[in-house]
Amino acid sequence: MKLTVIGSTALDSIETPFGKKEEILGGSATYAALSASFFVPVSLISVVGKDFPRKYLNIFKKRNIDIEGLEIKDGRTFRWEARYQYDLSYAETLNTELNVFEGFRPVIPKKIDPKDNLLLANIDPELQSFIFHQIKPFGLVACDTMNLWIEHSKKALLRLLKKVDIFLLNDAEARQLSGEKNLLDAAKFIASRGARMIVIKKGEHGALFFSKGLRFMVPAYLLEKLSDPTGAGDTFAGGMLGYLSRSPKITDRVLRRALVYGSIMASFAVERFSATGLLKTKPEDVEERVKHFEKLTKF
Ligand code: AMP
Repeated sequence: MKLTVIGSTALDSIETPFGKKEEILGGSATYAALSASFFVPVSLISVVGKDFPRKYLNIFKKRNIDIEGLEIKDGRTFRWEARYQYDLSYAETLNTELNVFEGFRPVIPKKIDPKDNLLLANIDPELQSFIFHQIKPFGLVACDTMNLWIEHSKKALLRLLKKVDIFLLNDAEARQLSGEKNLLDAAKFIASRGARMIVIKKGEHGALFFSKGLRFMVPAYLLEKLSDPTGAGDTFAGGMLGYLSRSPKITDRVLRRALVYGSIMASFAVERFSATGLLKTKPEDVEERVKHFEKLTKF
């Protein structure tokens, strides 16, 4: 099964304790699509400005990511500037420029099949909702978000929640959205608003999965080197949805494994700045790390 990914395509300027880089390839859809492309064919729906470097477009093409739905509009590409202190789980947003995303309403390419799975990566919930209604998907629908939208577009997000199968967010966002301190209570709140499956990401502490029949926790892979946590969540979502899209049937075993693959994909992303970690990774590296992960967690 194919996967359609919508979300931001960005030029990021990032500072971490390990370095500082300006105007590098970023965006929720970028990380999610690159990660998912390890598993299934991916179509990307997003927008960039005329200033978006051609070399970045070529990265998608090289990975066989279909970019017919990536519009190149007059204007500037979305920009995000952030800083991480030694607590790498928290990104301090210094500046967000929506630019071409302001009022963006994409034309969905005819080839996008409603039967395909859909990942609504982090972007304005109004836009996520617009695309959802344009595609009218009947595959698996997953949705990710961030604190900004919980703060400013909570109603739209809660409306969207009713329609999604898998909702992903991080622990701080789960607490913010639900008003609950305990993550189990937060997941219950989110489930009561409609999502069938909930993934609460906890950065270096892994992720939690909740559905009616399954609770599961997956650690993060133990890394020797970490440079830039940007995109870890999006990469996790892309890896998880990619793995699920490759699987003929969604069973509890497949869900557990999908979470492991999400976690492993994220571990490659954070080793280097921007998408370089993912771009340097080969499918066999992923399998090798999954095997090692199994050794590290089995008891
Ligand atoms: P993550 O580290 O997984 O939370 O995702 C970081 C990515 O999200 C960066 O590459 C940013 O370009 C992108 N991003 C940051 N803020 C926003 C926003 N408000 N809407 C959409 N994407 C964003």
